[in-house]
Amino acid sequence: FPPERIRNFGVLAHIDSGKSTLSDRMLEMTGTIRKPVADPNRLATEEAKNEQVLDTLKVERERGITVRAQSATMIYTKAANDSYLLNLVDTPGHVDFSSELLRSLLSCQGAVLLVDAGQGIQAQTLSVLDEALSRGLTVVGAVNKWDLVKDDGRGEAAVQELSDLLGCDPSEILRISAKTGWGVESVLEAIVERIPPPPPIPSEGENLRALAFDSWYDSFRGVVSLVSIHEGELRKGDSITSTTTGKSYPVLDIGILSPGELSIATHLDPDSRVLRKGMVGWFVCGMKDPKEAFLGDTFHLTTAPMPPLETFKPLKPMVYAGIYPLDPGGFGKLEDAIRRLTLTDRSVTVNRESSSFLGQGFRLGFNGSLHMDVFRQRLEDEFDEEVIVTRPLVPVKIIYKDGTEKTIDNPADFPDPGGLLKVTQVMEPMIRATIVAPDEYMGAIMSLCTAHRGIPISQTYLSTGSTSSASTALKPRVSLIFSLPLSSIITTFHSNLKSISSGFASFDYEEAPYEVSDLVRMNILVSGQKIDALCTVVHRSQVQKEGRDWAARLREAIPRQQHEVVIQAAVGTNILARERIAPFRKMKLLSKQKVGKARLKERNMCV
Ligand code: GDP
Ligand code: MG
Repeated sequence: FPPERIRNFGVLAHIDSGKSTLSDRMLEMTGTIRKPVADPNRLATEEAKNEQVLDTLKVERERGITVRAQSATMIYTKAANDSYLLNLVDTPGHVDFSSELLRSLLSCQGAVLLVDAGQGIQAQTLSVLDEALSRGLTVVGAVNKWDLVKDDGRGEAAVQELSDLLGCDPSEILRISAKTGWGVESVLEAIVERIPPPPPIPSEGENLRALAFDSWYDSFRGVVSLVSIHEGELRKGDSITSTTTGKSYPVLDIGILSPGELSIATHLDPDSRVLRKGMVGWFVCGMKDPKEAFLGDTFHLTTAPMPPLETFKPLKPMVYAGIYPLDPGGFGKLEDAIRRLTLTDRSVTVNRESSSFLGQGFRLGFNGSLHMDVFRQRLEDEFDEEVIVTRPLVPVKIIYKDGTEKTIDNPADFPDPGGLLKVTQVMEPMIRATIVAPDEYMGAIMSLCTAHRGIPISQTYLSTGSTSSASTALKPRVSLIFSLPLSSIITTFHSNLKSISSGFASFDYEEAPYEVSDLVRMNILVSGQKIDALCTVVHRSQVQKEGRDWAARLREAIPRQQHEVVIQAAVGTNILARERIAPFRKMKLLSKQKVGKARLKERNMCV
């Protein structure tokens, strides 16, 4: 395939708009995966098996979200002798995984922007579009789930909103149903017609520059690296060098994802045994140590050194939490599982820590709380590791009177009231939140944001809609921008927002600079002893409520003992709340620590 017959594109959308379904349907229509036979007697489960091919992680299928960007290559035959090589990148839909989104887009020239017909534009539609446009990508708008809206006007309203947003004619917006396959052909056509091909093949002898944007570990072959070929060509037998480590490797095998790994090194046609400029493919080079595989690394031919490509900046972790094995002897096994998982998810930072209460564990940094949740679930699903996650903390900056500055990722390191005397400023990270919802919910949303220490920045009507319409989806919709502390949204904000808006509000955010904040450390004492793993950092205005909540929840979680147990929440010497657990009447022999930990987990106390 010459470059003019290659298209590299992503599918972008707010979560649940049907990206994965559309991707699967395209793979099916191009014959890349087998199409389910249209047989009315087929079992529904059999049909379901063929769905969601790209969401391969168990947690992705269960939660219906895409965590890792998956690529797939397909051949689209538009007409006889008119075929194209389409490289599809399925992008994650959640803000916590935006580092994955960014790196996926690096290898694309265009994107299909999907909008759910019943929902219209949602918060994330706006943020992914910004990202795509800032990278100069050609965007094809499509309104999905047309089968659900039929003729009730919601579909056309969504088309209008999307064409306004993209600044194009409504006739350019595709109307599709990814689920039934209706209109999906028009998506393939638009990709070929509207999205530009990758830059043309250079003059002879251009040197290789390949950008590694994903990798995974195979116990037989070692690291498999997914690369986008920016310049030159890559063949089996080449010797390549990493610009990051300077190490050289022999290329043992090359291939494409289709969507499984398909080697092209032994293809019948010698001309096809190559990854060319513009292509996305994988290689194996006998790299045995996952630590040598860097995302964003540039490879060149050992004989032809080239400077590295400009690459994505890694996201800084914004949520930290302690992770401990439930089984006190399980540290080594947990360490191994974390090491393997972080190979596929490099955005997690790992440090060891220990707690007098929970034993040996790790302090991990994540992009957000969903990211953290997904990581924990992957540990459980893929490595059979039961873990306890302590209460998350955002990074807090402390500026001391002597001018030094320190970023704290563990509540136990936050100064106590005595220590705060040496501090000039405590700063916490803020976010700029975008919330899109029908205007009837604006009052409730405003109060929710204010209760989370939010400050409104702007309010814009997205569509005029009709106030008299019976259907909420046709009512006027507003895009609200709020400044909020990041810490306020890492726990229950999102679910509260969904419930006060009957599910109609959508939410997305971007990082904003740190701001000065009045934070204090709240300690938890059990029978007078401070429990390091349970202390938290809270805004002063919220200590009373938080203290009472925590003491009450702990009373439920800590098992009865032979003696009375007193739980206290305190800031310095100031006791905010006190609960007591009455002793057992009869002797009972139990491993105190083990039961305590199990209960904490059971009640999800720490998260
Ligand atoms: P993603 O989060 O954007 O990847 O969305 P998914 O592809 O996982 O789809 C979310 C849900 O919408 C799933 O339950 C799909 O079956 C459903 N869905 C996707 N496309 C359509 C469609 O065209 N019509 C209908 N009725 N449902 C759809
Ligand atoms: Mg998906």
